[in-house]
Amino acid sequence: LLGAQLLLHAAMLQIRTLLVDPGVVEPENLGNQLFPADAVGEPKAQVRAAQMAALNPSCPVRALPERIEDVGLGQLADSDLLLTGLDSRASRLRVADIAQQLGVDWIDAAVDGSGERQLGVVTWFRPKEADLACYGCRYDGDALAEIAREQRTAPCASWRNRELPDSPPTLTASPFGGIVSGWQMSFAIRGLLGEGDALAGHQLQIAGGAPPRMRSVRLARNPTCRFSHASPPAASPSPDGDTVGDLVCAAERELGAPLDGVRFPGRSLVLGLVCPACGGRQERVKRCEAVSDAELRCPHCGSAECLPLELGDGLDAARLQTLASHTWRSLGIPDQDLVVASSAGREIRYLLRPAIEGGGAPS
Ligand SMILES: [Zn+2]
Ligand SMILES: [Zn+2]
Repeated sequence: LLGAQLLLHAAMLQIRTLLVDPGVVEPENLGNQLFPADAVGEPKAQVRAAQMAALNPSCPVRALPERIEDVGLGQLADSDLLLTGLDSRASRLRVADIAQQLGVDWIDAAVDGSGERQLGVVTWFRPKEADLACYGCRYDGDALAEIAREQRTAPCASWRNRELPDSPPTLTASPFGGIVSGWQMSFAIRGLLGEGDALAGHQLQIAGGAPPRMRSVRLARNPTCRFSHASPPAASPSPDGDTVGDLVCAAERELGAPLDGVRFPGRSLVLGLVCPACGGRQERVKRCEAVSDAELRCPHCGSAECLPLELGDGLDAARLQTLASHTWRSLGIPDQDLVVASSAGREIRYLLRPAIEGGGAPS
C-alpha cells in the first residue's frame, strides 16, 4: 500500500533505489496497491522495478525479491536512507538493527490496516544521535518476547521461522495510503538534502477522521532501552576468499592473535541438531532460516524434525576450526552479511564479499 506511491515518486525524482519485497502480487492487492491487473502471481519487487523503469528509464533501480531478514547488511551499505512500510514488529526490529549497524537514517511509515479507522504514522529514526529514541525504545522485555512468539508458525511452533503466517491484506483505501507515503517521501527528500534535523526522532501522526488531524510528536528516549544506541565502527570488506578459514586467517593477521570467535549481530544460528525420537545428534551449523527440511531429517532413524542443540549468534574458536573449509554461503549466511571477529577483547568488523555468480553452491 505504502510502497506503491513512494516508489513512483522515487522514480520521478531519479532517486537511486534498492527495493526489497518478498511478496507476490495477489488479486486482493489490485484494489489498493497500484499493480497492473496482469501482474498477479509475479514478484512485487520486480513488478515495481518495471513500473519505475517505465516512468523513468534512467532512474537506477535494483529489485531484491527477498525478506529483509535474508538480506546481507553489505547489500544496503551504501544507502543514504532507509524507507520502509513493513507488516510486522519483528521486521521493524531487524531494520532498526540494520540502521544502527550502518549509522543511516530510517524513515518508517505505517497505517492501521484493519480498515476500521484511518490512522497513519511516519517516524524518523536517526541512530547516529544516541539521545534520540530508537524503534526498540518503546518495548520492554515482555513485549520483545511477545514479538519473538509472533514470528513463530501457528499452530506448530517452529524454531526455524521459515513459514511465516501471511499477514492479512491491508484494507486501508489507497488515497489514505498515498497521503501517508506522500509525507514519507517529503521527509525522505529533506533527508537526502540534509535538512532533516528538526524531524529526526519525531513521529508524524495522521488521523483521517472528520475533520482530519495531524500532529508531530517527539518520541521519548527510553533510558533503560534494551538496544544499543552506540554507533559501531565502520566495517571493511572481507579479505579474499569465501571460506571460514580465509576470514579467520585474515582476521588473525590483522588482530595479531588467535580468534576467540566470530558473531553475526542480529542473526540466529543453529549449533548442532538433536533428534527428539532417537536422541541421535548431528554437527550441523547453519543460519536458522536457511536449514532445509532434508537437513532436519534424522540420519539415524529418519524422524522428520530434529531440534537445535543450541542456538547462538556466532561461532567459537573450536567451531571455526572445524568449519574452516566451509564457505559462509554453505552455512546459510546471506551474501555480504556483517561478521564481527574478536580476539582478546579486540574486534574487527567485515562485510563478507559478494559471492561470485555460479560459484560456491550451497551444500
Ligand atoms: Zn532505544
Ligand atoms: Zn532419530
